[in-house]
Amino acid sequence: MKMACTAQANGSIKNLKKGTTIITAEPFVFILGSLHRKERCDYCFNSGKISRCSGCQFVYYCSKNCQKKGWLIHKVECPSIKRVSPRIVPDAARMLARIIIKLNQGAKNERGYYTDTKYRTFNDLMSHEESIKKNIKKMEHFTSLSMVLLEFLPKEIIPEPRELLRIFGRMSVNSFNILDTDMTSLGVGIYLGPSILDHSCKPNATAIFEGTKLLIRTLCDLESLDWSKIFITYIDLLKDTKTRREELNQSYFFWCECERCNTPETIEISAACPNKKCTNPCSPMLVKCDKCGEEITDEFVDKFNEVCELSLYQLDKMQSTAYLDASRMCLEKQDGVVHPYNLVAVRTLENAVAAAVDLERWKEAEIYASKLIPKYLYYYGNSHPMTAQMYFSWGKLLSLQKKGIQALEVVTKAARMIEQTFGANHSKVKDEVKPVLDQLVAEYRITNGCF
Ligand SMILES: [Zn+2]
Ligand SMILES: [Zn+2]
Ligand SMILES: [Zn+2]
Ligand SMILES: [Zn+2]
Repeated sequence: MKMACTAQANGSIKNLKKGTTIITAEPFVFILGSLHRKERCDYCFNSGKISRCSGCQFVYYCSKNCQKKGWLIHKVECPSIKRVSPRIVPDAARMLARIIIKLNQGAKNERGYYTDTKYRTFNDLMSHEESIKKNIKKMEHFTSLSMVLLEFLPKEIIPEPRELLRIFGRMSVNSFNILDTDMTSLGVGIYLGPSILDHSCKPNATAIFEGTKLLIRTLCDLESLDWSKIFITYIDLLKDTKTRREELNQSYFFWCECERCNTPETIEISAACPNKKCTNPCSPMLVKCDKCGEEITDEFVDKFNEVCELSLYQLDKMQSTAYLDASRMCLEKQDGVVHPYNLVAVRTLENAVAAAVDLERWKEAEIYASKLIPKYLYYYGNSHPMTAQMYFSWGKLLSLQKKGIQALEVVTKAARMIEQTFGANHSKVKDEVKPVLDQLVAEYRITNGCF
């Protein structure tokens, strides 16, 4: 029996339409981020009514069934979680512990298929042992996790240091962020089959999740299913080329030579044109705008650099929580200085949407969302889940302001995109999109007197 992955495809498959699922895989090991532990089931990630594990009083389950399924792994960590309480073991250490527990239970030969016949086991994953040894930050992280493990796991199952380092390497390089249907992170998982996929900053496939199940879906039409030509992204795509390459090199140990990295677009790091009437993205390296000829003075470049630096500093500070005041302040300073398609400006706008939504400032959030849509279309394209989700959020924000007709238009468009990117059978379509759409249609009928 194929355990971890339902293979649906092989090299002979031709002409794949965009929005085709090319791999479906259950996780080899996964964890729910501890931030979500009180609101989601530790096994299936469902929210709703959940009850606490009576052993550790730390993890929660939605049902006896999930608790039973999770028990195989949890039975080893449960007493340890209880013992170290009230301290909370970092997520990375819990993930590493779960991999060790699972391998110790004999899973080293578990296969994750990515075609009918081709598969990977945990040991087939790249460990990048030598690169990690040379990376001070990674080694520090490894050492601190090892210390936690010594306290957390039964001594007899902890592998010797070299093997532990290899496991840590395989985990660091091959983990997928498990995303909620709104594309926010819920946890982390290792998926053996899909780990075959390489990275591109201009990917032609993307990961979608249904609970903890991973689906790899195509973002554009493909001539054939050639695994060497299918790429997903390992990182946030809304970063400039230099930052992406450094991040990939630091975390995944390769220098990205993808199409986007090799032909960097200046728009992603561009200044606004000092001439307010001109929308041309200007390179701060030039002395005048190459479209309208307006001079780009040294003072203007200094101001541009200063605003970018300040915005980046704020973005870094807002990694876990977005603040409306700080986002507004950055947007104000960027106005007329940083081009709106500069990725620093785009990310500030993302934070502004999130922060305004948090504070239930629907009108302000709607304005930011409507400004963000063209940027998502530009950077992600029209068949990416991030774009589809942003359209859906925008539609809901319009509806909250009683802009029914416009909301209906936008949500209808979002529904089509979500069906294509997530798949018509995805729970997001049935449970999230359809109720909103039905409600808007009903409201439209009442307002327009069609019963
Ligand atoms: Zn559950
Ligand atoms: Zn427990
Ligand atoms: Zn790249
Ligand atoms: Zn200009």
